[in-house]
Amino acid sequence: MPQIEPKSRRDISEFGLIDRIRHRLQRSRRDVALGIGDDAALLRIPLRRELVATTDTLVAGVHFPRGTEAEALGWKALAVNLSDLAAMGAEPRWVLLALTLPKVDMRFVRAFMRGFGALAARHGVALVGGDTTRGPLAVGVTALGVVPAGSALRRTGARVGDDLYVSGTPGDAAAGLALIEGRLRAPARARRILVARLERPQPRIALGLALRGAATSCIDVSDGLAADLGHVLRAGGVGATLDLAALPRSEALALAQPDEAQRTKLQLAGGDDYELCFTAPASSAAPIARVAKRLKLRLTRIGTIERRRGLRLVGADGASVRLARTGYEHFAR
Ligand SMILES: [Mg+2]
Repeated sequence: MPQIEPKSRRDISEFGLIDRIRHRLQRSRRDVALGIGDDAALLRIPLRRELVATTDTLVAGVHFPRGTEAEALGWKALAVNLSDLAAMGAEPRWVLLALTLPKVDMRFVRAFMRGFGALAARHGVALVGGDTTRGPLAVGVTALGVVPAGSALRRTGARVGDDLYVSGTPGDAAAGLALIEGRLRAPARARRILVARLERPQPRIALGLALRGAATSCIDVSDGLAADLGHVLRAGGVGATLDLAALPRSEALALAQPDEAQRTKLQLAGGDDYELCFTAPASSAAPIARVAKRLKLRLTRIGTIERRRGLRLVGADGASVRLARTGYEHFAR
């Protein structure tokens, strides 16, 4: 990678940092007719596929703490977008990046691109365009993928009687944040795992692909399980009962020893997990169990879709709790 510094701060945009680093990320994909270097990219969309498009911006001090390591930021900025493609059952293909930087800091940019590039390589995604601007640190990513026409997973579609599932172990990322902010303590090994779950979420792409045709609805958990499940329930015009005792816990979270109320809050209201929450008929239970085994990923049945609207929680003692619309303050005690 050439290490040419622009003459002045004003040059950051014209200079095209993105252009300088493109070889690191511009993978040769046969469906990229024209990548970075012209006014726009030309992408080949296969016949009978739909283009799936999503975009997300991360702003310093709002979506990530100032001082977040650049490499982790690069990873996460891409991960949150790939997670949205995963939730649609899409195969990720291309990505565009808009970087707003307070100053030209090639060390930052290199570290950022290392994180971004590592995840892009893992999923075979090509960077096909981008832009750099000077301003308060912010990262905008647009991710593009494809699905066979008509087969995308959606938030709508949950049916009465469907099983409700979640992947992985929700609450880990929120525990990582609580550890960083000193609201929770954990042994060093558990801390490393939980902070990594916050900073390097794994978009569940393979799971999204496997759920096409098996799940009736799907969403990725970015704002917390209760809130995101709420979107699915409202979209489907249905309700659900969630079994708190069934919520899968990681060993790392257990090692942090949150009390019952704190754990429930982390697992239901903690954001940033980027797991998938989905519904499926009982007839899909066996195929879903096979998917879990193949992907070596926990897929846990945590409840049932019901006609009665709203989300109801059942504790280990069988006691039912109605979750307020305002959500997790309920557990804040
Ligand atoms: Mg989403």
